[in-house]
Amino acid sequence: MVFDPSFGDILAVRIVLGLVIGLVLGSFTTMLSYRIPRRLSIVTPPSHCPHCRAQLTVRDLVPVFSWLSGKGKCRYCGHAIGARYIAIELLTTLAVTAAFVGIGLTPALIAALLGIIALVTMITINLERR
Ligand SMILES: [Zn+2]
Repeated sequence: MVFDPSFGDILAVRIVLGLVIGLVLGSFTTMLSYRIPRRLSIVTPPSHCPHCRAQLTVRDLVPVFSWLSGKGKCRYCGHAIGARYIAIELLTTLAVTAAFVGIGLTPALIAALLGIIALVTMITINLERR
C-alpha cells in the first residue's frame, strides 16, 4: 500500500466535519421528531423544556454534552429528559459521519444529509406511535 500523507488529513477533516455537523443535525432531528407529530411549529417557539416550558439557552443546547452534564434532567425543573433524545442524536451523528467519510464534500452529500434527517425523523415518529 502506498502511503499518501494527505489522505489521513482529508479523512480526519471528513470525520471532524461529520461529527460536528452530525451533532447539530441530530439535535435538529430530535426537535423535528418531537414537534411534527404534535403539530407544533418547527420554527417557533425557540427550544424549551416540554415540561416546565423554560426556554433553553446555548448552554442547554450543546448536543449530548448538555444532557450528560445535566445527568439527563432539565436544568430548570429537574424533569427527566428521555435517553431517546440522546439515542436519536447519536444515531444521526453516526449516519452523518459515515456520509461525510463515504461521500466526501460533494453535492451528493447534501442529498444524503437530507435523506438521513428525513429517515431518522420518520423512524422516530413511527416508533413513538406504537
Ligand atoms: Zn424543565
